[in-house]
Amino acid sequence: MTLLRSWVDSANSAKTPFPLNNLPYGVFSIDGDDPRCGVAIGDMILDMAALEQAELVQLDEEPSFDLPFWNDVMELGPTVWNELRNTLTTLLSEGCKHQDTLRQFLVPQAIVEMHMPLIISEFTDFYSSKHHAQNVGTMFRGPENALPPNWLHIPIGYNGRASSVVVSGTKITRPNGQTKAADADMPSFGPCQRLDLELEIGAIVGGSNPLGQPITVAQADEMIFGYVLLNDWSARDIQAWEYQPLGPFQAKAFATTISPWIVTQAALEPFRTSTPDRENDLLPYLAEPKPMLFDIDLSASIAPAGKSATTITRTNYNQMYYSAAQQLTHHASSGCAMQAGDLIGSGTISGPEKHERGSLLELSWGGKEPITLDTGETRTFIEDGDTLTLHGAAQGEGYQIGFGTCIGTIVPAPKFPA
Ligand code: CA
Repeated sequence: MTLLRSWVDSANSAKTPFPLNNLPYGVFSIDGDDPRCGVAIGDMILDMAALEQAELVQLDEEPSFDLPFWNDVMELGPTVWNELRNTLTTLLSEGCKHQDTLRQFLVPQAIVEMHMPLIISEFTDFYSSKHHAQNVGTMFRGPENALPPNWLHIPIGYNGRASSVVVSGTKITRPNGQTKAADADMPSFGPCQRLDLELEIGAIVGGSNPLGQPITVAQADEMIFGYVLLNDWSARDIQAWEYQPLGPFQAKAFATTISPWIVTQAALEPFRTSTPDRENDLLPYLAEPKPMLFDIDLSASIAPAGKSATTITRTNYNQMYYSAAQQLTHHASSGCAMQAGDLIGSGTISGPEKHERGSLLELSWGGKEPITLDTGETRTFIEDGDTLTLHGAAQGEGYQIGFGTCIGTIVPAPKFPA
C-alpha cells in the first residue's frame, strides 16, 4: 500500500496524519454551532452533514451525520462501514468530478472545536501489556510474584466508568482520595500525590452480541469499528491503598481522555501484526485465526505550565500480549452483552526497554528515580499545570495513518470537604 492521492492538496504529504488512506471519524463544531460528524482529510474536515444534505452520501432514511456522535453509523454494521469508506475514498480521490461541490463542504481543522466522537456506553480497561504488568507487579509485590498466576491465561480487566471519559483538550482535575502512608497508623484524605498517565489504545466496539451468547475472536475482530489514543489517568497512591481485593476503583474513576478522531480498523488493515509467542498455550476460545494486533508507533510528552514539552516514552501497540479482539471475546465469554459504543482500553503499553515504559510509575520506578525534562526540571509524577500529550501513528510507505493528539492539562484538586 502506498499513498492514495487526493484533490485536497494537504492530504498528499508524507507528514500529514490524515491522508486519503486514513479518513478518521470525528465530531466538530464551528463558533459554538451544533456539533456534527466530520471526516479528517489533510488539514481539513469534510462536513458529513452537508455531504448528506447534498445527497452525495445516504446510509439510511434518517440522517446519519447531522448528529453529535457516530453511534448510529456504527450500529449499521461492517457492510455499511465499508460502503461508506469506499464512497468517501472515491469522492476525495484525485480527479473526482464532484470536487467543486465538495470543496464548499471542507472546513479548516484550525478553526473548529472537537467533541467526543461517540457516546461511550461502557468502558472496560484491560492490563494486557506483559512488560507493564511485570514492572508494576515487581514494584507492588516483588519480582517473584510480579505476574499473577492467571495473567498468562486471561486478559485481566476491570469495569471502568463511561461517565468520566472525556475528549482531548478537556482539563483534568486532580482527584482527592483516601491514602495510607506505609509508616502511618491511619489513612488520610486529600489531593492525590502520585498522579500518573497510562499510554493506551482504546478499541471502539461497533457491534453487539445478545446477552448470554459469546462471540469468537474472528467475530470480535469484525465488531471493532476503530481505535483511539487513550490516557487512563491514574492516582497511584489511592490505587495502592484501595486495590486489594477487588482492583482499582477511585484511582481510575476520575478521568480517561481519548483522542478526537476514530481511526477505523479498515485504515489500519495494512499494519496488522501478530501477538507474541505464548509462554503457555491459550485456551482454544482465545485462539486468533489471523494477526490481530497493529503496528502503531506511540509516544507521550510532558510540558510544565508555560514551558516546552519533553518526550518521556516511545513504544508500540505491537507490544500487547492480548489483542483487542481477544479482550472482547474474553469479555463476552460469560455471556456478557457488548454493544455499539463500548470502549475497550488496551492497558498501559510498555516495551522491554526503559524508554518504552508507558507510565510515570514505571519511568520513575515508583518515584525512586526522578526523570529529568529538557527544561531541567525533574518529575516523578504529574504536577498541577503539567500538560500530557499522547501521539500515535502507523508508518506506511510515504504516508502515515495518524491518530492526532490526546491532550490533558492538570488543574488543582478542589478543597473537599470545604
Ligand atoms: Ca489502564
